[in-house]
Amino acid sequence: MKQTADKFWFVTGSQHLYGPETLSQVSQQSRQIIQALAQRATLPYPLVDHGVLTTSDAIRRLFLEANADDSCAGVVVWMHTFSPAQMWIAGLSSNRKPLLHWHTQFHREIPWDRIDMDFMNLNQAAHGDREFGFMSTRMKVPRKVVVGHWQDKDSARRIGSWMHVAVGWSESQHLRLARFGDNMRNVAVTEGDKVEAGIRLGWSVEGFGVGDLAERVLKISQAEVAAQMDRYHERYVIAEGVRQDAFKMDQVRGQARIECAIRSFLEEGHFSAFTTTFEDLHGLDQLPGLAAQDLMADGYGFGAEGDWKTSGLLRVLKVMARGQATSFMEDYTYHLVPGEERVLGAHMLEVCPTIASGPPRVEVHPLSIGGKSDPARLVFDGRPGSALTVSLVDLGHRFRLVVNQVEAYAPDHPMPNLPVGRVLWRPYPSLTEAAEAWIYAGGAHHTVFTYAVSPEQIEDLATLFGLESVVIGPQSSVSQIRQQLQWGERVWGC
Ligand code: MN
Repeated sequence: MKQTADKFWFVTGSQHLYGPETLSQVSQQSRQIIQALAQRATLPYPLVDHGVLTTSDAIRRLFLEANADDSCAGVVVWMHTFSPAQMWIAGLSSNRKPLLHWHTQFHREIPWDRIDMDFMNLNQAAHGDREFGFMSTRMKVPRKVVVGHWQDKDSARRIGSWMHVAVGWSESQHLRLARFGDNMRNVAVTEGDKVEAGIRLGWSVEGFGVGDLAERVLKISQAEVAAQMDRYHERYVIAEGVRQDAFKMDQVRGQARIECAIRSFLEEGHFSAFTTTFEDLHGLDQLPGLAAQDLMADGYGFGAEGDWKTSGLLRVLKVMARGQATSFMEDYTYHLVPGEERVLGAHMLEVCPTIASGPPRVEVHPLSIGGKSDPARLVFDGRPGSALTVSLVDLGHRFRLVVNQVEAYAPDHPMPNLPVGRVLWRPYPSLTEAAEAWIYAGGAHHTVFTYAVSPEQIEDLATLFGLESVVIGPQSSVSQIRQQLQWGERVWGC
């Protein structure tokens, strides 16, 4: 998943008052921090030194250059010494890149027996960064603040975690999404304002007749199908009952042919996300199941029933997760036995195999909906572990991100008659409270299910988009979420 924006700029703030000797020390120490981070490879993306800035004009120019550089995914700033913040007004006003304010200090320890005013004046981020923080707050600059010594693993981890968000946001700014067919008829929550998505999220959501795809399916060569079948054999286990059945193997080849057609369509149009709908499959013999699953495994966003919001969100979260353990999902059915409440999540077919606990199996079964031929699909259990469900809803005048922290479990019962990828989880704080809060928040039945993105990252993403986020977690109560939603109407409502 190669990204255009894959570098971060590191900028140190100071002023001329200190004289050249101190400024050179500031510059040298900044470089030392960057080199140390690079050597230990603690950050997922390179942090590039852009020097010590001491004038309003230099700061403004730095941000203008960052804006113009497509490879710059964000700017990290640190006030090593005091940098009077009126110097930052022009720069912060111009900035269009994700901004992280790192509040650190070069020296970890106070040298008790030799501390003097020179030490105090060199290591004064404690008040220099507060001056910068005040200006950012006064100007309402959206940003991330991370506090911690530069040698602390946790500090680097949190900067790295934010870097993933910034790269996801950058990807979102030029995300192109292809829709094959429209939304499932009469469904409400999968609808939305595509123009607002362009303005707010940067997405271009483009509709195509499924005939455009069907025509391409017919042109896929035998060699292309064979190459795709080889990839299926490498990645998945073809169930014995499929391998020994000529009809079923043909259905798998049918998915390979559909996948080749979708992939070439997406590549030619520079699309990184797509939707399908079972209500509009004219010219396709099967609903894309295995095909959609395998494309998701390669990092494409996907939404079923025309759900372009979840598809685009999946693409952005897959970039943030670097392709790991992130899928399209639907809250499907419940296990409501007291004390062992669970949600069973799945979809008709389209669950991404990156969340599988073991090798996914290719199986072929009839699909009771849509009236098409039996589709090949991947069947697997989701892995255990902490995860999130994330939903993007359109409230008519704005978008909202709804998040639920969950714990996924290995199923303790086999489900031999359920031929889909599925995952079993317990929502926090409990199924009933989480579902009540989710429903009050208007969260959808379609979500992105991810083990590789944290609630903090979703909140950081919401900050970059300028969106409300509602996180339902272990500490949440229904009452507190309802109050948050009421306040949110005031904050975000108009
Ligand atoms: Mn659905």
